[in-house]
Amino acid sequence: MKVVKFGGSSLSTGEQVKKVVDIVLSDPERKIVVVSAPGKRHPSDEKITDLLIACGKKILEHDSETEILNEVIQRYILIANELGLHESFTAEIRNSFLQVLQKDKSDSVMFLEALKASGEDTNAKLIANYFQLRGIEAHYINPKDAGLLVSNEPGNAQVLPESYHRLADLSSHSGILIFPGFFGYNEQGEILTFSRSGSDITGSILANGVGASVYENFTDVDAVYSVNPSIINQPKEIREVTYREMRELSYAGFSVFHEEALIPAYRAGIPVHVKNTNNPFAPGTRIVNEREQRNGPVVGIASDTGFCSIYVSKYLMNREVGFGRKLLQILESFGLSYEHSPSGIDDISIILRENQLNSEIEKQIINYIKEELHADEVKVEHGLALIMIVGEGMRQNVGTTARASKALAHAGINIEMINQGSSEVSMMFGVKEVNERKAVEALYQEFFVGVLV
Ligand code: ASP
Repeated sequence: MKVVKFGGSSLSTGEQVKKVVDIVLSDPERKIVVVSAPGKRHPSDEKITDLLIACGKKILEHDSETEILNEVIQRYILIANELGLHESFTAEIRNSFLQVLQKDKSDSVMFLEALKASGEDTNAKLIANYFQLRGIEAHYINPKDAGLLVSNEPGNAQVLPESYHRLADLSSHSGILIFPGFFGYNEQGEILTFSRSGSDITGSILANGVGASVYENFTDVDAVYSVNPSIINQPKEIREVTYREMRELSYAGFSVFHEEALIPAYRAGIPVHVKNTNNPFAPGTRIVNEREQRNGPVVGIASDTGFCSIYVSKYLMNREVGFGRKLLQILESFGLSYEHSPSGIDDISIILRENQLNSEIEKQIINYIKEELHADEVKVEHGLALIMIVGEGMRQNVGTTARASKALAHAGINIEMINQGSSEVSMMFGVKEVNERKAVEALYQEFFVGVLV
């Protein structure tokens, strides 16, 4: 049995929904279908989820919001009409949104959670309805009835382990099951959503629960690319990548597949297959436990901007017990999370996302570190990009660091920092943001051009 998930762009119009249904019907093993809310139809369009959030916020500000709500309802009605669904169903769509809006608003966060989830929920009902219209046995499945229990963290819910064995029952259900992505229920029966793009997570949880042979994730690109296509024109596609490699790549900016969504599939050893709804015969990318190392040490290059480093130096730091702990405790007391901490004998840098700081907090932190730790020097460097080269093959290959730093040197790029992760699956270079593109181009040239992938 396969679990198949379709993202928002795959469901944005009636035409797209027809493609989805054809894809599902072309393989009898495709039994559980997880759906997102309708996404953008063109780049300047709005996702339904974003419209619902905007609508909810206005309502909470006591605006009698009808414009955005009408826009949402019209989008569904347009799709329903394109598919030829019965008028009674379009009335149902309208009513179900109005019902959500009637919900108790005293807890504004929970109200917004329910409203956000209604995007996927309505879409699942719509798609089940269309399957039925085509004479196919299909059922909308409510996550509460199916037992998808999650933690009480709005917008960042985590699946509770007891969900898995409950969801296993879905495998004996007859027909094709249409399951809304993006949300589950807490023990009190209230709706909570996963983080944004969380329908990927739902699919992975279901694949684990029913012990699927594969989790197919349909999106709008042919494959996961070895590098960001907005930096390198038509980069090589990745055919196979391990969970660990994918995790490292998505951390540093690969957004094809939600990083949290790997965990449930990984735990059950279920391969994830990323495919394109608009080109379903393209081979796509398989995310697997182990792969053959055929194409050199590096499988992908990721990069992300918006980092800064707090550099701290103190003579004889290496002899001082607890220095690192105290430094991290200071960051913790400011509620900051850090990404990396490369260190030397007398110095240490803490790399963090810049958007957590402002000039006031920065001043306070610098003073605090100087006073508490008697540091000789503390400075913050802004505007850093992290470039990550990723590949399990780096463990066995000698000289990958040398090749990467030579490529960067040839491109005239100063490396601000190097960090080889303890996993040896990735290596990270910190460069100035202005050099991000040039650095990625140089590394791509070194590791991919002329290599068969
Ligand atoms: N519709 C939700 C979002 O836009 C979840 C998803 O599409 O996966 O974040």
